[in-house]
Amino acid sequence: MEISQKTDVNILRRTTFSPRVKNAQIQLICGPMFSGKTTHLLNAVNEYRAAGQKVFVFKPKLDDRYAEEAVVSHDKKEVEAYPVSKSMEILDYYMNADVIAVDEVQFFDEKITEVCEKMANDGKTVVIAGLDMDYLGQPFGAIPQLMVVADEVKKLNSVCAFCSGRARFSHRVSEDNGVVVLGEKDKYVPLCRSCYNELNT
Ligand SMILES: [Zn+2]
Repeated sequence: MEISQKTDVNILRRTTFSPRVKNAQIQLICGPMFSGKTTHLLNAVNEYRAAGQKVFVFKPKLDDRYAEEAVVSHDKKEVEAYPVSKSMEILDYYMNADVIAVDEVQFFDEKITEVCEKMANDGKTVVIAGLDMDYLGQPFGAIPQLMVVADEVKKLNSVCAFCSGRARFSHRVSEDNGVVVLGEKDKYVPLCRSCYNELNT
């Protein structure tokens, strides 16, 4: 059977899209240390809650810098968050939420991309935040894959600790060599490309 273009359009018109379809999306907020990623995430959480949406917040279990069951930004704003060890655990909780927020997304296993896509495909708004590069300037965790599947990517900058230029790199100033070293300004400084290259060559 031949279907004309006009009939195709009619088929589409007859389909009723549920309102949740327009909410289905993945928003990724990324950047270096001290660029306000968590603050952006928490602002989004508060805005969605103010609009009457049910928001669940998750974070990787390893991050216990400030509080066990909260996401806290460097400027000490905070919301309650569920700490999870594996990204798949998020799928045990998300169905009752309208919006799912995930902080420090770079620390999750690679399945986090699949998890975010599943939730968005089920009509959820997924807002995730994380470091885009580790201290060696390499892509961090599943961030490259998440950038590809995200509907929206917001790249934030920090201020270079040396020249006050636009910082994209997180330079480690501590002696610790593991990729996962959590900390505040005693361990990392944000640097612009020129100052980062100057210090790393
Ligand atoms: Zn600089």
